[in-house]
Amino acid sequence: MVILGGGIAGLWTLARLTADGFSALLVEPHALGHGQTIASQGIIHGGVKYTLGGEKAKAASLLAPMPAIWRAALAGGDVDLRGAAVLSEHQHLVSTPGLITRLTSIVAAAAVRSPAHRLTGENRPPPLCDGPSGADVFAMPEQVLDAASLLRAFRVRYEPRLLAAEGPHAVEIDPDGPAVHISANSRRLRVSAGALVLAAGEGNTALLAQAGVAQSDSAAQRRPLHMVMLRGDLPPLYAHWVAAASDKPRLTLTTARDRAGRAIWYLGGDLAETGVGRSREEQIRAARDELREIMPWFELPAAHWATLPIDRVEGRNANGRRPDMPTVRRFGRIIACWPTKLAFAPAAAAEVRRALDAAGVTPTNGPPPDVADWSRPGVAEPPWDREDLTWT
Ligand code: FAD
Repeated sequence: MVILGGGIAGLWTLARLTADGFSALLVEPHALGHGQTIASQGIIHGGVKYTLGGEKAKAASLLAPMPAIWRAALAGGDVDLRGAAVLSEHQHLVSTPGLITRLTSIVAAAAVRSPAHRLTGENRPPPLCDGPSGADVFAMPEQVLDAASLLRAFRVRYEPRLLAAEGPHAVEIDPDGPAVHISANSRRLRVSAGALVLAAGEGNTALLAQAGVAQSDSAAQRRPLHMVMLRGDLPPLYAHWVAAASDKPRLTLTTARDRAGRAIWYLGGDLAETGVGRSREEQIRAARDELREIMPWFELPAAHWATLPIDRVEGRNANGRRPDMPTVRRFGRIIACWPTKLAFAPAAAAEVRRALDAAGVTPTNGPPPDVADWSRPGVAEPPWDREDLTWT
């Protein structure tokens, strides 16, 4: 089995298939997580966010089992992610004025699948504990993970099955396969496999074209974001602020640490979606205004700001909206996968396994591929540690 792409989709699939007895090799031309995974906010959604519109969203029920699967992996299960750092045990859901009743009913409706508990007074994390007592703050059992340490955990555990190619053009699908040509360590290698799993995010479209799959069948969609980062003396905070009349959080905030140990607030949600057309300066101004509006009592300390334009890449949905689940498409013995969310990686890998069953590809329980003297991919740099980012 050859898996192309070492983001969360490829890595979880590698771990799943290895546990199932497949002899699997993963090829990564940049660094593990390069693209979306290292830039993600690391929230292991249980689906409550997707009930904000009030309707029974399909994504919400499909996401509900994911946090438990991730917890089992973090404790060292079949897929063994011991060593990945949990930044927070909870993502919080916070009301803005006028929304208290609605938020309470949303959380109550979602409680069967994902129990959240209301925090009062000092139990709220700072700076929310200093806010007006009327606002609602719920702690959801959705862990927030440090993406870089998650990728390192995969690297440590599955290293003998990872191969670094010399850039995306060093990976070429052989249409007479399933097989792939890989340039690595100044050598060229042809690996034939029972099946190829394409988990290359935005790279899937080009790989499918090489495999001769018609464009209409292979189509993916991009949904752009303009994320904001601020660096300073900031308290650790993990929260969605719920917007009036919207099924999306107006702001999603998570906290990370950069290489020097400084706190980074990483801002997404509606701010990042609606900010796509804004210049860097406009987007920073919008983020500053948004923070002032949702936490008017909080005096933002002096901070450095940066923004990150980045695309989410998913299987195409007829209406262009986020698909409700992972997209897995099979073209003979080539299987293309887009997980839709980091949290959905276990479901995506299970779907790949079902596609292999449908293709009649079964585990051989053979040894791992012999690539001992080839290079291994490193782990991608988190956005806040990137040299090419401008901080002001
Ligand atoms: P990627 O992570 O993009 O990985 C693709 C890999 O394929 C890369 O390593 C790349 O180098 C490699 N590749 C490229 N071309 C080739 C080639 N030709 N051959 C072989 N390999 C190739 N989801 C959540 O559940 N929770 C969140 O909090 C969250 N926050 C997010 C925040 C942001 C800003 C973004 C953009 C997304 C977020 N998501 C979140 C969504 C989640 O990050 C993605 O759904 C997920 O990471 C996609 O993983 P992937 O493996 O498909 O793609």
